Amino acid sequence: MKGTVLYGPRDIRFEDREMPRIEQPTDAVIRITLTCVCGSDLWPYRGLQPIKGPQPMGHEYCGVVEEVGSAVKTVKPGQFVIGSFATSDNTCPNCLYGYQSACVQREFVSRAQAPILRVPLADGTLVATPGMPSEDLMPSLLATSDVLGTGWFAADAANVKRGSTVVVVGDGAVGLLGVLSAKQMGGERIIAMSRHPKRQELAREFGATDIVAERGEAGVERILEMTRGVGADSVLECVGTQESMTQAIQSARKGGHVSYVGVPHGVAFKGEELFFTLVHLQGGPAPVRRYLPKLIDLVLSQKIHPGKVFDLTLPLQEVAEAYRAMDERRAIKALLRP
Ligand SMILES: [Zn+2]
Repeated sequence: MKGTVLYGPRDIRFEDREMPRIEQPTDAVIRITLTCVCGSDLWPYRGLQPIKGPQPMGHEYCGVVEEVGSAVKTVKPGQFVIGSFATSDNTCPNCLYGYQSACVQREFVSRAQAPILRVPLADGTLVATPGMPSEDLMPSLLATSDVLGTGWFAADAANVKRGSTVVVVGDGAVGLLGVLSAKQMGGERIIAMSRHPKRQELAREFGATDIVAERGEAGVERILEMTRGVGADSVLECVGTQESMTQAIQSARKGGHVSYVGVPHGVAFKGEELFFTLVHLQGGPAPVRRYLPKLIDLVLSQKIHPGKVFDLTLPLQEVAEAYRAMDERRAIKALLRP
């Protein structure tokens, strides 16, 4: 089997890898229908996150179960399934508290840009759809696996509710789906920070009421002007840099909520500054598994169309071009078909 391997900065290869097989009785092996490149894959791709030698890539997936281990009870061969990028047993104290991305048995999936994938803890990790979904819904179903699940967590952790004023920092696919999520949760004024026309357009389609192109201090000033000097109730930080984090915290109202789902790289919090903002702060790898059943329902009933973030589709063997297109911001998000 050929799969995607990162060798070093901007060196993606599609090459022979061992065929995944059942290793533990709780495993499933699935045939991938669709996978994609994540914004977080760009950190190691750009050399901004060190790797210890060749690294198989990919953590967003949906597909059909081929085989299950002897202890798997609910997942069955032939089912169409979606799972999170973090595996979970769904029974430990962290899972039961709703934080499956911190499951005591968690493993991060990292081999999904391939035709076949082994999924540990299959019963807890995978969610099956009722029957085989139609082809046109599959990109949106794939999106629930991480990019929508993460955008949804960003909105939820930022306490978006009916009538909220929301700011979304970051116009990558997660930020755009943070806009969609905020809209679903009843956000009234949803301000997307973006300077990219195509992304602005999609943000509006997903429910953004305003677009702000300024960044940093100028961005914060614009938000304060737009909110009569108060700041936003909810701010979703979907980038992961110091600049975006500072901008997010300063855009929130006193006592407001800031979530951060961009993996922080070199981000520091100043205790005293944070103290006087009075903000609630929550970030982390999204507990996507908590939201999967609901998000899958919303997609199957066609209430949301998160698959619109995929603006480039390539055969899996052209995965290196998918990375390049996202790295150069020619594509918002690249869909890969094995
Ligand atoms: Zn658990």
